Amino acid sequence: MSLAAPARVAILPRTARLILAIDGPAGAGKSTVAREVARALGLVYLDTGAMYRAVTLVALERGIDPGSEEELGRLADELELAFDEDGRITIDGRSGEPAIRSAEVTAAVSTVSAHPEVRRAIVRRQRELGRRGAGLVAEGRDTTTVVFPDADFKFYLDASPAERARRRALELGAPERVGAIRREIEERDRIDSSRAHSPLRFAPDAIMIQTDGLDAQAVVERVLERVRAGR
Ligand code: C5P
Repeated sequence: MSLAAPARVAILPRTARLILAIDGPAGAGKSTVAREVARALGLVYLDTGAMYRAVTLVALERGIDPGSEEELGRLADELELAFDEDGRITIDGRSGEPAIRSAEVTAAVSTVSAHPEVRRAIVRRQRELGRRGAGLVAEGRDTTTVVFPDADFKFYLDASPAERARRRALELGAPERVGAIRREIEERDRIDSSRAHSPLRFAPDAIMIQTDGLDAQAVVERVLERVRAGR
């Protein structure tokens, strides 16, 4: 997938910071699409889920109870979280990958991220990142509704649970686990959509893209078309 740099300068004269926000449920293809769109537009890619995963990873390592809001909120405030040039997270100076993607972290992250104190700390950091440089492409569950409600472009990527499970299983190289992965995805959807604080929901002014039957490149192109068209 290569989208040449000179073309993007021509289509997008930049006078101000540009913020794109992309939300959607687990496995809708947000990371691949957001990373590629950021590259095409010459912007930073912000993987907001990686920040919740990082807090969860350290909490598990330190034996902090995933139900302990105060301690987790403190951790979310104090951890040094940064992103390298490839958009991969570092935690207190060490790489967070691949540990933040482990099954243990994935199973606990929705509980950790449901705490208002954790969200307050992480959202503050995300907005700080949005105030730097030329702008960014943020991807997550609440970037269109809470973190960057005034983003220049807002997208919601969706796909059926069966399709999302199929993609995730392929990504993990474990097609035989598709049934278990689907159950895990549906459980995360349930927690992420029903939590009291910043639930996953479709912002009415976001552009919905149904990605069943589309590959990542096709979704990237749809997003870039809207950006080129200025709406
Ligand atoms: O996107 P990813 O699967 O890495 O996100 C992991 C979890 O982090 C989600 O299931 C959700 O609980 C939480 N999250 C969130 N808000 C975001 C991004 C992720 O609550 N903006």
